[in-house]
Amino acid sequence: ENVNITELMEKTIEVFTGAYDRNIELHDNGKPIHILGNQDQLRQVFYILIDNALKYSDHNVVITMAPHDNQIDISVRDFGQGIPKEERERIFERFYRMDKARSRNTGGTGLGLAIAKSIIHSHGGTISVDSRPGEGSTFQVMLPLT
Ligand code: ATP
Repeated sequence: ENVNITELMEKTIEVFTGAYDRNIELHDNGKPIHILGNQDQLRQVFYILIDNALKYSDHNVVITMAPHDNQIDISVRDFGQGIPKEERERIFERFYRMDKARSRNTGGTGLGLAIAKSIIHSHGGTISVDSRPGEGSTFQVMLPLT
């Protein structure tokens, strides 16, 4: 199906800002971007990334959406505890959670990112993370535009 991914992100953000007193900024070029995909699955990916950004930091979340050539680049940035280099691949594995001490206050099964990865791959895209421990993390999703 044809998915308006800009509108989908706006609506997903609204769900969180209605429930939490936290600021989620969206930066895009104001033009709707459409891709072919499964709307419910893509909503789930946005939900997982925003939920994590809120869970693992106490600050604002900054989301950018920018088309590049035939891809859309979506990044979800937080200013939380960050993810050490040696953990960055493992967090996409099923049931993997970092250091229990750090995660102890937040419930979770460790499935979120594994689900997000499998959905993005099934759409022909990629998902990756960049992080500075102590400063925050940026999850980047690239999806083909057609
Ligand atoms: P759930 O399945 O309920 O989402 P979860 O958050 O533990 O539980 P994942 O979303 O797969 O599961 O995340 C795996 C682990 O990666 C988390 O337990 C956490 O340690 C780490 N992580 C994920 N997102 C972030 C983030 N934005 N900042 C810091 N650590 C993160």
